[in-house]
Amino acid sequence: MMIVMKQGATKEEIDHVVDRVEGAGARVHLSPGEEVTVIGAIGDREHIARLELEGAPGVDRVVPILKPYKLASTQIRHGERTVLDIGGRKIGGPHFSLIAGPCTVESRDQTLETARVVKEAGASLFRGGAYKPRTSPYAFQGLGQEGLRLLAEAKEETGLPIVTELMDTRDLEPVLEVADVVQIGARNMQNYSLLSEVGRAGKPVLLKRGLSATLDELLMASEYILKEGNEAVMLCERGIRTFETAYRFTLDLTAIPVLKEMSHLPVVVDPSHAAGRRDLVTPLSLAAAAVGADGVIVEVHPAPEEAICDGPQALYAEDFAAYVAQVERAADLAGKALSAV
Ligand code: PEP
Ligand code: MN
Repeated sequence: MMIVMKQGATKEEIDHVVDRVEGAGARVHLSPGEEVTVIGAIGDREHIARLELEGAPGVDRVVPILKPYKLASTQIRHGERTVLDIGGRKIGGPHFSLIAGPCTVESRDQTLETARVVKEAGASLFRGGAYKPRTSPYAFQGLGQEGLRLLAEAKEETGLPIVTELMDTRDLEPVLEVADVVQIGARNMQNYSLLSEVGRAGKPVLLKRGLSATLDELLMASEYILKEGNEAVMLCERGIRTFETAYRFTLDLTAIPVLKEMSHLPVVVDPSHAAGRRDLVTPLSLAAAAVGADGVIVEVHPAPEEAICDGPQALYAEDFAAYVAQVERAADLAGKALSAV
């Protein structure tokens, strides 16, 4: 249920409602808006209804949250969009974010060179995997702790906040030391214990859509993180499995405006994993930006032909500045400007 307070409701009136909701065993989510405060009461609907809060001082109305994803729903923020702040870089709202870097951290040179290039071209965050979810157990699994150390060095040199994947709760502590944004990969979107754990950790999370997950399932996955009190979540469309085999995955562009209608959370797009091919990365990025994405997370490598992982889809580092200039124009069409520090 959502308890919408009257304009000018006092702190005492708000506290009173919060106490009563908590007293009924429900969880409270407070959303102080510009004009009115909304209190989300997450719990047994019957119990909350029995409180008859309509008559309480300062309460304007009580409305049910109809969606199963309560905290992610547009409704709970009464239309306001979430804008994340990652080390001064804004994600969401009028901002368009470029998250760029290699698929995986391979070496010191490769990591630092890529970080320098993407920073110079205007990227706001640096991506790179130290723990890699690979389809084959025989494929390179990432440098692990050494990879995290190199990411920390890249951050120290460029100042770019780090986005890196967490696959296993056992690696939570070292990942949290380096990551500014914890990435939950497509294959782990429904790993509910992992989601709850990153929720409790409180670090911003980039949650990728599962290969065959519906938007409802993606939002329910985000709910596991939000429910723990972590509100810094961005969603990522990265291509889904369809009957089409001509490219790696099908980038679901429709998901972007629809997710933004369903949820207040920022939506970024990964054109690299969707395409699987470098030549498709730019057109897909332009389309994503034009349709209102809040940013892209894109793979870049100084020498893609030598990359250990996902080389065919990596942009050449030397082409990255030209790519940014094009994407910036498409973002402008959707009323967004590149997010800067
Ligand atoms: C990645 O971004 O490195 C990755 C493995 O992506 P996904 O989980 O979308 O396959
Ligand atoms: Mn990759």
